[in-house]
Amino acid sequence: MTDDRDGGRGARKMRVCVLTQGCKVNRSESGALEEELEGRGHALVAFGEEVDAVVLNTCTVTHRSDRDARALIRRARRANPGARIVVTGCLAQVAPEELRGLGVDAVVGTAEKATIPDLLERGAEGSFVGDVARVSVLAPAGLRRLRGRTRAFFKVQEGCDAFCAYCIVPYARGPSRSLPLEAVKAGLAELRRGGNAEVVLTGVHLGLWGRDLSPPRGLGDLLDAAEDAGISRVRLSSLEPREVTGEVIRRLASSPVLCPHLHIPLQSGSDRVLRAMGRPYTAGEFRATVERAHREVEGLCVGLDVIAGFPGEDDADFRETRALLVDLPFAYLHVFPFSPRQGTRAWDLPERIPEGVIRDRAAALRALSAGRRRAFLARNLGRVLGVLPEGEARNGRLQGTTTNYVSVSFPWEGAAPSGEVPVELIRVEGEAVMGRPARSAPGGGPWT
Ligand code: SF4
Repeated sequence: MTDDRDGGRGARKMRVCVLTQGCKVNRSESGALEEELEGRGHALVAFGEEVDAVVLNTCTVTHRSDRDARALIRRARRANPGARIVVTGCLAQVAPEELRGLGVDAVVGTAEKATIPDLLERGAEGSFVGDVARVSVLAPAGLRRLRGRTRAFFKVQEGCDAFCAYCIVPYARGPSRSLPLEAVKAGLAELRRGGNAEVVLTGVHLGLWGRDLSPPRGLGDLLDAAEDAGISRVRLSSLEPREVTGEVIRRLASSPVLCPHLHIPLQSGSDRVLRAMGRPYTAGEFRATVERAHREVEGLCVGLDVIAGFPGEDDADFRETRALLVDLPFAYLHVFPFSPRQGTRAWDLPERIPEGVIRDRAAALRALSAGRRRAFLARNLGRVLGVLPEGEARNGRLQGTTTNYVSVSFPWEGAAPSGEVPVELIRVEGEAVMGRPARSAPGGGPWT
């Protein structure tokens, strides 16, 4: 630790590394933490540099995230024997004792994340894990650090009331709470002033936004605020199937601001398995929603989440899932091999599926996804689309993303522009599309 002191607080200035696992909500919260630390005069440093403290913001959605968190803690301890290690996030909330056993100095629950700068400055040690119902939604002030980034993740909702059988999130994050509408508007205005060209509205269960407010609000109010904010692009992080209503589809189809991109958790194409999971829709309803969205929103990119090997999922159930997916016009899948989480209803379910079967089913779904990804990219060839550059040109090329989530590389000399560049998409290479700057405005070219 250095000897510099912060005049106002008297706290020593530290070199802090913040590491983040998991979802966009965690990224948004880590951004707010970094902003607060910098505001207090501490230095943010990368992993591997000399540090006084490491803060690890964890995820616990799967076994793999738990394993990665433990590995990161061990690496951080080995690399920085004298540094303070603080672990927060969803794994810290549900397994504080286990983490203390790994030799971390402090375990901080999701409701206490905002106290981390104070804890670091006080040199506090121990477990600080309280009631998840007290987790606050990111205040607009936490957005300053995101200013000037091409894409900012703006968390407007926290928690979930759905308690799907497999999911640990309601236990780690508590019930649904929304950032009030006026605070959403203030946050969006802050981001617009900061020059953010794209804002991703995120939440643990974004579609619940507004229901707990007084008076209650709905997604329509959130979309109104997003469209009126003067930001070029607004993307929705993820919506549950029943939240992709006709109104949401119409808005995506007609809005010059809302990105034609939907990420929707399917989880299974078998009604029997969906019921066991506690998911409130049928495969038929899901199909109708995705097909309607695909029909009405030009160029729409649809991403889906699927779980392979939920307890009791037999071969016939898996065939139903696969058959539904073969029919659906999606662009990519996020495949989750089922991972039992202690404390959830699925933990106690009989008929666990053998690991090897789960692995094979996940591999089959990933193969399907890879083919669809290539086909979706190819469908965009010949179009002129607005590409928002991310970072500066490297080796004479800029990298960026279209509104419908196609990653595009194109030749560019000089500084990266702050807004969209019209680019003609000419060829698929791996996960990306190669393009060239176009003279015509975005919107040209076929979409079949
Ligand atoms: S909707 Fe279900 S899967 Fe999604 S966070 Fe809530 S409980 Fe978890």
